[in-house]
Amino acid sequence: MDPNTVDAGLLQSRYRLTKQRAAVLRALDNGGHLSAESILDRVRDEMPGVSLGTIYRTLEILREIGLVQAFSFAGSAARYEAALDKHHHLLCLDCRSLENVQAEGLARIAQGVADRAGYREVDYALTIVGLCSACARVRAPESPASGSSTIAGRSSSSGGSSV
Ligand SMILES: [Zn+2]
Ligand SMILES: [Zn+2]
Repeated sequence: MDPNTVDAGLLQSRYRLTKQRAAVLRALDNGGHLSAESILDRVRDEMPGVSLGTIYRTLEILREIGLVQAFSFAGSAARYEAALDKHHHLLCLDCRSLENVQAEGLARIAQGVADRAGYREVDYALTIVGLCSACARVRAPESPASGSSTIAGRSSSSGGSSV
């Protein structure tokens, strides 16, 4: 499990979370970045009466406490995760997978930029977008000239494993 991930049971006792808040945290237990709708689906397994509005309010409270973080890129719907530490993201533009990453040295750079502009109470976030390795592999066999064939005969000479 990602060391960044929150242990819902532990936090429930430490923060004396309500059932609803604990259920939302449990929905985020697997370390994923979920939309409010998918959180609602999971919470409804335990608490069938819960509404989307309640999920949003609960997420907002959990954010204020600092147990949940929200991620959004270029106006996309927010995705939530149970994480305590500051981190940054790799976002695949194809499958929309999100990966947590650290960016050493970024704090210093951000603070320097902000200082020079006279900013106070600075925050920053880095999102690196591209194609994840799985999606890049799917796209790789494209042949540059013809657009007709989908599979451009891959040569199997990658690494000389035929001994
Ligand atoms: Zn991908
Ligand atoms: Zn994240």
